[in-house]
Amino acid sequence: MNQQPGESELKGLSVSKGIAHAEAFVLLHKEVETPVYEIRDDEKPRELEKFQSALIKTRSDIQRLKDELSQSVGESEASIFDAHMLVLEDVAVIQETQTMFERGNYNIEYCYAKVIDRFIEAFERIDDPFIRERISDLKDVSRRVMANMMGIESLKMGGLVDPIILVSTDFTPADFSMIDKAKLLAIVTERGSQTSHTAILARSLGIPCIVGISDILDKIPSGEPVLVDGYKGNVFVNPTDRTIAYYTEVATVQKSIAQVYATSLNLPPQTPDGVKFNIDINISAPVDITEEAMKYCDGVGLFRTENFFINYGSFPDEQTQFKTYKAAAEAAGGKPVVIRTLDLGGDKNMNLLKLVNEEENPFMGYRAIRFCLDHEDVFMLQLRAILRASAFGKVKILLPMISSIREVERARALIDRAKEQLVAEGADYDKNIEIGVMVEVPSAAMTVDVLAQACDFFSIGTNDLIQYTLAVDRVNDLVANLYEPTHPAVIRTIDMVVKAAQRAGKPVGVCGELAADPSFVPLLLGMGVTEFSMSYTAVSEVKFLLCKTTLEEARKLRDEVMEMTRSRHIISKLRSFHYEKMQPYLPS
Ligand code: PEP
Ligand code: MG
Repeated sequence: MNQQPGESELKGLSVSKGIAHAEAFVLLHKEVETPVYEIRDDEKPRELEKFQSALIKTRSDIQRLKDELSQSVGESEASIFDAHMLVLEDVAVIQETQTMFERGNYNIEYCYAKVIDRFIEAFERIDDPFIRERISDLKDVSRRVMANMMGIESLKMGGLVDPIILVSTDFTPADFSMIDKAKLLAIVTERGSQTSHTAILARSLGIPCIVGISDILDKIPSGEPVLVDGYKGNVFVNPTDRTIAYYTEVATVQKSIAQVYATSLNLPPQTPDGVKFNIDINISAPVDITEEAMKYCDGVGLFRTENFFINYGSFPDEQTQFKTYKAAAEAAGGKPVVIRTLDLGGDKNMNLLKLVNEEENPFMGYRAIRFCLDHEDVFMLQLRAILRASAFGKVKILLPMISSIREVERARALIDRAKEQLVAEGADYDKNIEIGVMVEVPSAAMTVDVLAQACDFFSIGTNDLIQYTLAVDRVNDLVANLYEPTHPAVIRTIDMVVKAAQRAGKPVGVCGELAADPSFVPLLLGMGVTEFSMSYTAVSEVKFLLCKTTLEEARKLRDEVMEMTRSRHIISKLRSFHYEKMQPYLPS
């Protein structure tokens, strides 16, 4: 469509489909320096008013976060925000700030920052874990108050009134946890990629997400109307009426396509030649296990527990974790729930949990099982909580980022220890709980036969498997063009893993984003995959496609693709297969 006067069109990479139209909300990441300037006496009442309003707004922000957490996790867990409320309303801090302000002639932000620094310094001299917690509360709360005084949108976004399109250089899973999802219509960022966790979360919400727009903060001012085309990766700043009208039509057509896909939901999950398949959902929290999802799907194929930790803001204790996993087991109503143990690291912000300093190369570093085996105390709490929850449904344990059998054996030894403890305590758990291994590192892919000796099932994490096979950081936009799921090395690796797992007699599914990619799904079927796990928003389209593709056609596709040596040829082969399959059913 032609660009029109008054609007500007930016081109990025779409990582989540959809159309959205709203005002831009620019999110700044960097810590903003406290402003220091002199204030005249006649300006003082206004400054004080600014302070009071910031305290009131912060109060309502914290209350909203508390309400959200108590809905998603539980009331007692949300009580961490009570501590924040106490810190916010601390009379000593408020009075000292006002006194310093009234006696001097500096702006209120400066006085508040000075008082907070003094409190923090005093607390830091006391060696007590309880006080350390209070320091972190104080820092968190004071950041919110400062942001509200300065009128900037802090990372902790409370009280959004209107729907927004979020614009930022980067938007991480930790940021995601803080935003009011009901108001979030789209995400547009400078950094990011197809399989960054933010893209995955955007897809699970069913909202468009565009990444790769350079100098984004210069191009999209806060408050400006923006229209996002998540099909082509276009962003229109200040769209004209013609653009809006055009995209209103596009949205209508997309809606009717979605209705066609939805017709598959009630069909039996089998190919036209009678091969049964499973479609599971990927979740971040028990609330994602909706009644509708459980009506149409076979269970939860991947519960990314780290997202729950990130949302929680610190390490949840065993009881909190138990309640969460139990809620998931119960919500699935007896269908399997695969709970993946903590996969912190990579782009899942570890600093939030203040565990290690930033790493040079986090995806190759202290991540997932490596971190857990090194922090037995953290790992044991999670294992005990999962085991206890297994008494309330069909729970399975999945170990992420395994690169050798030694790691599986060590994890199993800890699982056994946790089981022994529970027996001694008289606590119940599923004695037949299955333990699975994620295949997402080439060394695991090469040794599936070996790993099979120590696990009950495999789940292929294609997001990581691609990045580690190709040595391409999955969130680095500079190399995004090299992140090629259709690279023959990737195709051969997945095929090899599926065959090796089948030879070893162990079930194997795919829970990475390729399982939700309609161009890829027939190929996976042809390789022998019959378990697909994805966010619920992708289910109807994938199921529709599987219900229309025979195993014979899929095998033929697989055989042809395995002979191909160029990524681009493979892409066009997969796309044309997909197009030919779907085209007869879709509105023109
Ligand atoms: C994967 O790597 O494919 C996967 C499912 O795990 P995550 O995206 O959480 O790293
Ligand atoms: Mg992974």
